[in-house]
Amino acid sequence: MLLYNSLTHNKEEFFTNEPGKVKLYTCGPTVYHYAHIGNLRTYMMEDVLDKYLRYLGYDVLRVMNITDVGHLSSDADTGEDKMLKGARREHKTVMEIAKFYTDAFFDDCRRLNIRIPDVIEPATGCIPEFIHMIEVLLEKGYAYQAGGNVYFDTSKLKEYYVFNKHEEEDLMVGVREGVEEDVNKRNKNDFVLWFTKSKFEDQALKWDSPWGVGYPGWHIECSCISMKHCGEYLDIHCGGIDNAFPHHTNEIAQSEAYLGHKWCNFWFHVLHLNDASGKMSKSKGAFLTLSVLTDKGYDPMAYRLFCLQSHYRRNLVFTWEGLDNAAVTYNKLVARIAALKESDGAVDEEAAAALRAKFREALDNDLNTSLAVTALYDVLKYKTDDRTKLAVLGEFDAVLGLNLLDAAAKKREEQKQAAAQAAKQAGAYTVVAEGCEPDTAVEEQIRARYDAKKAKNFAEADRIRDELKAQGIEIIDVPGGAKYRKN
Ligand SMILES: [Zn+2]
Repeated sequence: MLLYNSLTHNKEEFFTNEPGKVKLYTCGPTVYHYAHIGNLRTYMMEDVLDKYLRYLGYDVLRVMNITDVGHLSSDADTGEDKMLKGARREHKTVMEIAKFYTDAFFDDCRRLNIRIPDVIEPATGCIPEFIHMIEVLLEKGYAYQAGGNVYFDTSKLKEYYVFNKHEEEDLMVGVREGVEEDVNKRNKNDFVLWFTKSKFEDQALKWDSPWGVGYPGWHIECSCISMKHCGEYLDIHCGGIDNAFPHHTNEIAQSEAYLGHKWCNFWFHVLHLNDASGKMSKSKGAFLTLSVLTDKGYDPMAYRLFCLQSHYRRNLVFTWEGLDNAAVTYNKLVARIAALKESDGAVDEEAAAALRAKFREALDNDLNTSLAVTALYDVLKYKTDDRTKLAVLGEFDAVLGLNLLDAAAKKREEQKQAAAQAAKQAGAYTVVAEGCEPDTAVEEQIRARYDAKKAKNFAEADRIRDELKAQGIEIIDVPGGAKYRKN
């Protein structure tokens, strides 16, 4: 499998540290507000990666953090704590806010068919680990104390900008609203590992530390939580592209300084979801959540398909027309699958192998999900039996997560009920054999009995019933028809 690696700017043959095992770390949400649909796109594409690695037979351990402390409203180490900001906005405690939005996040994941990671760790559960890593960084000379805080010293690194030659203007103090100069930093890229000098006296969550009562910086949590569960060698680290700098850059700086060796081999970044006004962001006030979409009547699976139709390494522009098109495509796809006949028996292995090869070709090439979606149509068009098609579609959908077979089963049931309803309304009379072979002669007799009853010729109706009874046929009247069984 070829996977693009942000570290090398190349598609590389995927490899793991341990044969057959993948240690996958995902930056989780900062739980101060609902996730917007751009955040959710990132988690969905990471979910496809996770599921495809499992499809390939890897034993995947996926770990995700929940940022419930220490993420400031600026990506630099300035601004207000996002959690505190959320608590103020909603007149709740920080822990209430964290609980509420953590639940909301996993509810979105469930609706979008995103597999819940194997390990979910809130930052507030790992304070001793953060303190330990900071102590080691201080001992090794990669960190210093100034003005009450502990900072990482980026001048000690051979290379700091691992992903890109970053535009210096992005870091210029005062350019962005709310960014103030931190006079304690020795170098402009230095970042806080531990705060004790909070500008906000009502900082709700504080812990004891060797440097005084305070709270951790944001970046330290991902390094520590990853190492706690995945050990010193990570295979893939995922996140949105906006996390590449400074968050992931700082994660690498402190992790490799701490470990003394390379930490993570592959960096998987999902690009932005933009709307007509540009990059989607929570700081702009109103923003699109999954509930906004479902309140308008969209199936979350339509949004999943909308995202899968585009490559994760491209910026995707969200439009309602685009979502409408995806909804139409999704419904048509489900209807075609619903029309396939289920049956027992062996799968046409030759056909299945040919179809699997196409699907793998798409995803082996840097997770090309839009071609993988096309492979679903190849299955529907392929000259093989419906049983094989359903089996292969089920396999593919275990990766794509579009809930196709369940949606098709639901549609089939709806169609059956609609047909029964229509037949009832049209006064149709259905005769069905129960637990015995259908017998046309018997069915004709039952219909004749029905006609007799309708004509109020009850003597004739009873005669037919008795005659059938003598042959061991029992008639059971049901709404819109009758069932019969042979005793
Ligand atoms: Zn992170």
